[in-house]
Amino acid sequence: MNFRYVDRVCECLFGIIIFATFTSCSDYKSDKVMDNPVIGKYVYLDSDSALHVKYNCIRIHMMASGDSKKSGALTRIPKDSLREVHIVRTCSRCINDSIYDIFVEIVNKKKFEQYKRKKIKDASCYK
Ligand SMILES: [Zn+2]
Repeated sequence: MNFRYVDRVCECLFGIIIFATFTSCSDYKSDKVMDNPVIGKYVYLDSDSALHVKYNCIRIHMMASGDSKKSGALTRIPKDSLREVHIVRTCSRCINDSIYDIFVEIVNKKKFEQYKRKKIKDASCYK
């Protein structure tokens, strides 16, 4: 057997292993990014009423391309205007537990403010 040929095959295998290592690391990196969520001014509701953080989330585009009846149109919602109904269905691709916790905090803070306002209004009626 020609040793040069064997060397060439080994080089190719080594290249494939290196390539596989780096491509598998890219998923790991994206998970790391999810640990430090960056939430913009807006969040997005797709036509299935699922909430996304990323405007260009791949799930939105997959859904739009997979079903011709769905346009991939989004409803843009200011993050601070989130209501409980918006966080019932969330995208598993762009919303992890940390981001979800932030949304729950926003919704609960808003509910508490509404409760406080109602209590002040009720109290002022009896004066
Ligand atoms: Zn998404």
